[in-house]
Amino acid sequence: MLIVENLQKSFDGFRALSDAQLKVEKGEVVAVIGPNGAGKTTLFNLITGQLKADSGSILFKGENIAGLPPYLICRKGIGRSFQVVNIFSRLSVFENVRVAVMSCNKSTFSLFSKAKETSVYETGEILKSLGLTEKADRISGSLSHGDQKVLEMAIALGNRPELLILDEPTAGMSPEETSDTLELMKLLSRERGITILFCEHDMELVFSIANRIMVMQHGRTIIQGEPDVVRNDTHVQEAYLGGGG
Ligand code: ADP
Ligand code: MG
Repeated sequence: MLIVENLQKSFDGFRALSDAQLKVEKGEVVAVIGPNGAGKTTLFNLITGQLKADSGSILFKGENIAGLPPYLICRKGIGRSFQVVNIFSRLSVFENVRVAVMSCNKSTFSLFSKAKETSVYETGEILKSLGLTEKADRISGSLSHGDQKVLEMAIALGNRPELLILDEPTAGMSPEETSDTLELMKLLSRERGITILFCEHDMELVFSIANRIMVMQHGRTIIQGEPDVVRNDTHVQEAYLGGGG
């Protein structure tokens, strides 16, 4: 579904990404791990069009999407959430998700009223599947941090993505919120068939859900493989998991 090859990105001469390689197959849950500054967010920003690569290719369903603007990449079926919460904090939970649902709607203007009804229905379904129904009318800015992160996932789902990219979905969450989020990710993957690419510091979560793990360090891909292979790789243990890890 997604093939990233030799992706490079510099900021004012600083190589944030020097050689990123990544493969995501349809239906997989793939984790990207690596210390702070490894280039994980930069990689995601390149895939979703927030940043433009210096070189390399990003193939999504066989098409090179490198350099396309974010809204086009979104329409092709890639949704995302951000490391730092990114919502309209003065809008209600419902409106936040509905804006996303409608922005992806390709209906013509004459069908607008129909589209409106459909978007209300779809928004309700998304809120239900993420357990946000009871909070639909809350002002988003008043939600707990954990609920705001879940709302971000709901917004990303509003674009009906085939591939969902989550940048540290559990950042700042309590252990309980973290395990709820893990369950949500499993649900999205298994019941909705959404392919998930995420980066995460919580290794327990990574190893309990990922089918495959890509390890990054200093902008390079060190290894990509199944959890057991990654866990037992000596380079990974030295570089990231800290020897005996
Ligand atoms: P990670 O998400 O793995 O923590 P990032 O992709 O955010 O890493 O950052 C990789 C490196 O690129 C870091 O050294 C960071 O300081 C640098 N970097 C990221 N974004 C920018 C930017 N917009 N301008 C300059 N340097 C940046
Ligand atoms: Mg990051």
